[in-house]
Amino acid sequence: MLSNSLIELDRQHLVHPVSSFRGHEERGVRVLRSAKGATVTDAEGRELIDGFAGLWCVNAGYGHESVVEAAAEQMRQLPYATGYFDLGSEAPIRLAAALAERSPGDLNHIYFSLGGSDAVDSTIRFIRYYWHAKGQPDRDQFISVEQGYHGSTTMGAGLTALPGFHDGFGVPYQWQHKISSHYTYRNPLTTDQEIIDASVAELKAKVAAIGEDKVAAFYVEPIQGSGGVLVPPKGWVKAMRDACAELDILFVADEVITGFGRTGPLFACAEEGIVPDLMTCAKGLTSGYVPMGAVFMRDHVYETIAEGAGAKAVGHGFTYSAHPVSAAVALEVLKLYEGGLLENGRKAGARLLAGLDTLRDHPLVGDVRGRGMLAAVEMVTDKERKTPLPASVQPATRLFDRAWEQGLIVRSFAQGIFGYAPPLCCTDAEIDAIVERTRTVLDQTL
Ligand code: PLP
Repeated sequence: MLSNSLIELDRQHLVHPVSSFRGHEERGVRVLRSAKGATVTDAEGRELIDGFAGLWCVNAGYGHESVVEAAAEQMRQLPYATGYFDLGSEAPIRLAAALAERSPGDLNHIYFSLGGSDAVDSTIRFIRYYWHAKGQPDRDQFISVEQGYHGSTTMGAGLTALPGFHDGFGVPYQWQHKISSHYTYRNPLTTDQEIIDASVAELKAKVAAIGEDKVAAFYVEPIQGSGGVLVPPKGWVKAMRDACAELDILFVADEVITGFGRTGPLFACAEEGIVPDLMTCAKGLTSGYVPMGAVFMRDHVYETIAEGAGAKAVGHGFTYSAHPVSAAVALEVLKLYEGGLLENGRKAGARLLAGLDTLRDHPLVGDVRGRGMLAAVEMVTDKERKTPLPASVQPATRLFDRAWEQGLIVRSFAQGIFGYAPPLCCTDAEIDAIVERTRTVLDQTL
């Protein structure tokens, strides 16, 4: 009863992010009521394994009392402090120092945003400022990768390279350029080295076409998330980073999904052996308990901006930048990661990938890929030809529904791809259940 009236109120008043307005009105909302560990419970009392950690964000899992207590204590003591007027508070300062210590190389300067989109948006602003400060204001062109996702703010949506975020919005913008995705499963090139060489050559050709003194930065996700969990060949990220150094353009690693244990270590860049000029994070930073994002800058980026501004204020920031409650939560979540969750995530991730790999014998499974607790199963109707599942016959919503009926939440991408990003706290039994339930859904989809 309560659920029905909520569904109606939702239909009438709540605009959902990235949803078909009409489709949503028709289907209605599924109300979630509570969660613990890796399990969420809906308003009807149905328990589901959250194989997607909310929106690849609840890395630590649900229901950690210590996180709740950290937020409550910060709210009691000082619920808000601005960073304007040379003011500040303890938690964001400690968090910035802790993150600087743990991030690769000299990514020593951290600006806190409210989430991933505005972290990315902030990098665009800082990078523009950086090049102005260097006396090269014409460097205002940005390059990203097809299938990439970098948020949906007006600026960031221009870097995002998924048509659904462009159509009807007048995007792409003139300053946005793309190179092809590595997408190894659907790449006509077969060896890792061929794919790497082709991407480097394409980036260099793109920079030459735009003008060598016009390009500001190149954006990369260490693993492309919203594009369908596309894992690049080993060495691809480093090759792109090196190419940017050679081309004298800034290299930005968008670790909004890959950060905070999602692929194993705290940051995927560390595993790649690279130091980006700037790095963005969000999601796992607070494990989704409260909103927060971060921009990491190397010393040279920070120093250039500082020198350029001199005594002037760098006019970028939000009321809620470096929010003390979010920072207190992030500090507590960091303790949990380092107190065993990263370790558990690494083990659970290996089990998840091994488990999903056993699905390769299924007639509908064309590809299984992933790293750590980030994985995907790509469905095809013909393995030889890699024919995508026809969206008209098997729409993503139907596949999502089938998984839901099995007690599993997965991301169901339009191309017939299931995405997995379970909380790092998953038990062996939960990982096995994710795999078994996926097989059931595949059988029902035949
Ligand atoms: N960058 C990447 C790589 C993302 O995956 C996302 C969100 O999924 C964003 C940026 C935007 O983050 P948010 O949704 O917190 O604004």
